[in-house]
Amino acid sequence: MRLDEHGVAGERRRVHHHYLKGSLFCGKDRVDGVVRRMIIQRTPGRHGGDYWYFFCIGNQKNAGCHSPHLNADRIEEAVVEYYKRIAFSPQFIAVMQLALDDMLAETEATQRLYKKHLQDQLKDLDTKETNLLSLAEDGALPQAKIRSRLTDIKRERDKLEAELGKVQLDLSASAEFLTTCLELLRNPYRLYKGASDN
Ligand SMILES: [Zn+2]
Repeated sequence: MRLDEHGVAGERRRVHHHYLKGSLFCGKDRVDGVVRRMIIQRTPGRHGGDYWYFFCIGNQKNAGCHSPHLNADRIEEAVVEYYKRIAFSPQFIAVMQLALDDMLAETEATQRLYKKHLQDQLKDLDTKETNLLSLAEDGALPQAKIRSRLTDIKRERDKLEAELGKVQLDLSASAEFLTTCLELLRNPYRLYKGASDN
């Protein structure tokens, strides 16, 4: 177990850090449908060194839970063991991968259609602009009116071009990220064992 050792001897620190802090919940309460966090406490040992315990927040000041204080080392071991039991099955991963591929193909198709739609609208604007300019040449519309319409067209074009810039056709990076996550969850135990405290 590695814990923050910033505390100077004799100093009382009320806030203790542990990588499992915030991730543990009381199992005794969970049976009753109550969700309570486990918090950590340090007790100085008689012969130097510290003992660290996790305990249910409901156990503080008789708030209703009587679950025991649990040695932090034992908890760490239990959590490691737990990771052996929560792997995704190969079948589940295969199904997820298929669903992911389908979803990506569908999203890419939708994005392609949207891009086409935006490009068509931009073309319409070009036509409108050309028509306006020939109206201006003919003197068929007052100058002020033409200017105001041209400004509208420019505003609309800027909007469409900004939208067009957001269209993402290549989703392979996102796909790769999700596939990597799936692969890691094939063996969460190995992942957890290999991870640093951070
Ligand atoms: Zn509890």
